Amino acid sequence: MHMLTVRINDFLLARLLREGSDLQDINHPEGRRKVAYLEAWISIIGNLVLALLKFIFGIILNSIALLADAVHTASDVLTSFMVLLGFKLSSIPPDEKHPYGHGRIEFIATLIIALMLIGVGIKFGLESFARLRTHIVVEGSLGIALFMVLAGLLKELMSRISIDLGNRIKAPALLADAWHHRTDALASILVAVAILASKYGYYKVDAVLGLVVSVLIIYTGIEIFIDASSKIIGESNAEDVAKISNLACSVEGVVAAHDINVHNYGGNKAISLHIEVEDNLSMEMAHDVAHEVENLINKNMYASTTVHVDKVKKK
Ligand SMILES: [Zn+2]
Ligand SMILES: [Zn+2]
Ligand SMILES: [Zn+2]
Repeated sequence: MHMLTVRINDFLLARLLREGSDLQDINHPEGRRKVAYLEAWISIIGNLVLALLKFIFGIILNSIALLADAVHTASDVLTSFMVLLGFKLSSIPPDEKHPYGHGRIEFIATLIIALMLIGVGIKFGLESFARLRTHIVVEGSLGIALFMVLAGLLKELMSRISIDLGNRIKAPALLADAWHHRTDALASILVAVAILASKYGYYKVDAVLGLVVSVLIIYTGIEIFIDASSKIIGESNAEDVAKISNLACSVEGVVAAHDINVHNYGGNKAISLHIEVEDNLSMEMAHDVAHEVENLINKNMYASTTVHVDKVKKK
């Protein structure tokens, strides 16, 4: 399934990023936003199609459980709409009150989606616990079980597409949405397990598995919540720092760089650093070098950079 996922995403991204020259790069805030929208729309359309299928088969197979599940699947578009909304609002240009733009709204949206995921996990856990304590026979035909497995596989594919896209643009919001898909995939497959197990007299298998799954979901939700919180607080990124240092030192006249700070605003970055130049350099030359460093970093990292110049003794 992994190769299929990567192929689907490569295909879609090639199509998505074709027009518009500066939107080729998914690290560009614009390109990044497009990828997030893609994930959200795949999820929304996928869920609506799946809900419709469940509704149709619910009627054909005469299953109330399937009809109820169709309603749940339709309501799942909510988290994906949160992704759309979060990335839409984060694209609002800078204003007087928010000179660094609104990119961090993405992280707030991530917090909300993570909370929704934790909520789904708790609900799933409570339902599983209730099933563990009461004796309910899950009625269902082999046809329903088979359909639920197929629905689960489709949703797992959606989950993997979202995870891959989320990793490509480093957006935890997409990962949280993906894990919601995975929850539903596992829930669907557990329904099939319950139907089959009930036929052989095992009534609690799905409840036990459901509890395990719910713990996994809650754990993942908390992890994503902490990750987004850390980004709001402001975290250092060794990868970015190394890249900035290399870019700065590639400019002629720069001996070294230190005190590199990166403020991540979702897509945009505000960067500050000190460069060391030899002390025989004139004020004018040093200023030119500083500007060259700023421009180079701005261009490569879609950032707004400020450079401070330190003079070091020529060896
Ligand atoms: Zn759901
Ligand atoms: Zn310094
Ligand atoms: Zn200047």
